[in-house]
Amino acid sequence: MRERINLLQGHVAELIAAGEVVERPASVVKELVENAIDSGADAITVEIKDGGISYIRVSDNGCGILRQDVPTAFLRHATSKISTEEDLGHIGTLGFRGEALAAISSVCRVELITRPREEVAGTRFCIEGGSAGEAEDAGCPVGTTIVVRDIFFNTPARMKFLKKNVTEGNSVEGVMQKVALSHPHISFRFVRDGVDKLHTPGTGKLQDTIFSLFGKTVATSLIPVSYQEGYYRVEGFISKPQLAKSNRTLQHFYINGRLVKTKTGMVALEQGYRGVLMSGKFPACFLFVTMPQELVDVNVHPAKIEVRFAAEKEVFGAIYAATRSAIANYSDQTAAALGS
Ligand code: ADP
Ligand code: MG
Repeated sequence: MRERINLLQGHVAELIAAGEVVERPASVVKELVENAIDSGADAITVEIKDGGISYIRVSDNGCGILRQDVPTAFLRHATSKISTEEDLGHIGTLGFRGEALAAISSVCRVELITRPREEVAGTRFCIEGGSAGEAEDAGCPVGTTIVVRDIFFNTPARMKFLKKNVTEGNSVEGVMQKVALSHPHISFRFVRDGVDKLHTPGTGKLQDTIFSLFGKTVATSLIPVSYQEGYYRVEGFISKPQLAKSNRTLQHFYINGRLVKTKTGMVALEQGYRGVLMSGKFPACFLFVTMPQELVDVNVHPAKIEVRFAAEKEVFGAIYAATRSAIANYSDQTAAALGS
């Protein structure tokens, strides 16, 4: 029998939409840290407990939120980052959908404390499962702190899909590493169950960040990459062949500053190593590809990890050529040093 068609109630629609953004603690951390970066902060601290399932706190020293805007920030499609259709063509911030705070606050208990430079008193605002309290005064420094407790407290079916605390915590730690790598100018600190796990210096030098995250062996086994071809610029580091790993966990690709998963990049990189790496071994990379905004579509997936390229082949070509020339350069230098 055919059922009648009806429009979903607001909160049901909210919960469905939230599912697209909030999958697990790591996705909450990613969204909150991206907001902190967009706020112009140069120091960001993240603390989690129980893998982030019971507690996540993200603090920044960025621009803060005006008191009158605080409740609006939690509405769906509310953003300060774009306003017109044209803006979609050149997105310069990590966020722009205006969905994260709405999604997070519909499936978690959220406490926000914030103060912009131009306001004397800070604001404290609580919202849980979509129901908001009143904005009240709070003494606090300039910047924003968000505490997110009890993810999926009101959606037990989704709660069941979470993995063990340690697995969720590892996933958060992965997010922190990747985000720290893409922003060497920002000092990131990550505390997990009371233990300091990561603290980057924020010097602006990628190599300093790599050193603080992966230690000396990795930091001293890098070949610099600097390559330009047409609209495409490829910069960063790839690993000397002797550092080769048995998996791809040290491969990092950034498109216009945004960490992405890109099969194109991965294949281009690995083909670039042809002849210098044994099969079954994988190179590491920290590659930053810059291209005109209009040649890349970030508007593909709500979690924003996938991107679409207008000219796939050219992206491939640039990464491949950048890798080849960096390796050739390195081999020449090695040969010269050996006196051959
Ligand atoms: P988006 O990041 O896509 O704009 P969000 O839901 O993540 O959407 O955030 C909504 C708005 O709240 C942002 O556009 C921004 O104005 C404000 N905001 C959120 N987090 C912060 C922060 N840490 N510092 C300053 N403003 C923030
Ligand atoms: Mg955001």
